[in-house]
Amino acid sequence: MILVTGGAGFIGSNFVLDWLDTEAEGVVNLDKLTYSGNMANLASVADNPRHIFVRGDICDGALVAELLKQHKPRAIVHFAAESHVDRSIHAPAAFVQTNVNGTFTLLEAARAYQSTLTGAERDNFRFLHVSTDEVYGSLGPGDPPFSETKAYEPNSPYSASKAASDHLVRAYFHTYVLPTLTTNCSNNYGPFHFPEKLIPLIIANARAGKPLPIYGDGQQIRDWLYVSDHCAAIRSVLAAGRVGETYNVGGWNEKTNLEVVHTICDLLDEIDPRAQGGSYREQITYVTDRPGHDRRYAIDARKIERELGWRPRETFQTGLRKTVQWYLENEDWVRNVQSGEYQSWIDRNYNQR
Ligand code: NAD
Repeated sequence: MILVTGGAGFIGSNFVLDWLDTEAEGVVNLDKLTYSGNMANLASVADNPRHIFVRGDICDGALVAELLKQHKPRAIVHFAAESHVDRSIHAPAAFVQTNVNGTFTLLEAARAYQSTLTGAERDNFRFLHVSTDEVYGSLGPGDPPFSETKAYEPNSPYSASKAASDHLVRAYFHTYVLPTLTTNCSNNYGPFHFPEKLIPLIIANARAGKPLPIYGDGQQIRDWLYVSDHCAAIRSVLAAGRVGETYNVGGWNEKTNLEVVHTICDLLDEIDPRAQGGSYREQITYVTDRPGHDRRYAIDARKIERELGWRPRETFQTGLRKTVQWYLENEDWVRNVQSGEYQSWIDRNYNQR
C-alpha cells in the first residue's frame, strides 16, 4: 500500500491510474478536493478495491496520523499543492498553508510513523516529494539548463512556497534521517489538465471560438513533459532513487509559449478544422504579461537518465497530439470543469474529513 496526496488533481490522478494499472499494491488517496481536484478523473477506478479515497486536508495532522496507522503504507507520494502561479499572485495565503504547512504536517506525521516501523518495513519506507523546476528561478537565453545543484531563486509565491517545502524535505532527511526523495519536474501536459493552464485552455478556447490569450510577447520558454512520462519517472525514483537525493525530470523540450500555441492550432487545423474555415491561429490575442513572469525554464535530466535509466517515451509532437485528441474526445469533462458542475457533484457526494 502507498499513500498518495493530491491524487484527484492533474498529475496525481494520472499517477494513481497509472499505478493501479502497473503495480500490484493499492493506493490510499488523500485529497481535499479543492477547485483543482476532480473525482471524474478517477471514475475508471471508482469500484477498484485497491483504491481507497479519503477527502481530507494534508494540514490535518491527526487525520494523516490515523491514515498512516490504519493502512501502514510503505511510501508516501506527495502531490497535494496549490499549483497555479496566477492564483498565487492574487491569493498567496493558501499556497503557504498547503504547500509549506501541509508538507510540514506530512513530514512530522511520516517521522512519527517511521519510528513505529522496524526491520525491512523501516528500511524500505520512503517519502517522495513531488516538486517543480520553478524553484530554480528564471534562465537567460544562453544559460545551461537547471541541474540538481542549481541555487534556488523562486520568483512567485507559488515557487517560493514549493521551494520552502523542498527545503523542509531536505532538512528532514539531514536532521531526522527520514528517507526522503525529491523530484523537480518541468511543465506537464496531458489528460485531466485543468483548463486554466496554457495547453488545455488553448484547446478549449480554440474549440469554443474564443480568443487564444498569449501573455506579453509569447517568447517565454518552458520545458514540456507528457504527464505519463512524469508518472514513470516518479515510479523509477520511488523504486531505485537514492534517499536524500533530488532528481530533475524533464523532456528536453524547450518551447516558447507562442510555439506551443501554434503547434496546438496546427494540430486542431488538421484533426478538427474550423467550421468557418481558416486557421485557429486567427484566434490568437496578446494580453498583458503576468507580473514577475519567468523568462525561461529548462531541465537537465541527465542524473535521472544516468542513475535510473528513465527516458521520456513521448516527444512533444506525439504527446501533444495525444493531448489534443483526449480533449476532443472528452468535451463533457471540460464542460463540467468550466461550469463548476464537478464541484457541486463533489460536495453532494463527499464529506470532508
Ligand atoms: P493540481 O492543482 O492539478 O492538483 C493538486 C491536488 O491537490 C488537487 O487534487 C487538490 O484538491 C489537492 N489539494 C490541494 N490542497 C490540498 C490540501 N490542503 N490537502 C489535500 N489535498 C489538497 O496540481 P498538479 O498540476 O497535479 O500538481 C501536482 C504536484 O506536482 C504539485 O505539488 C505541483 O507543485 C507539482 N508539479 C506540477 C507541475 C505541472 O506542470 N503541473 C510540474 C512540476 C511539479
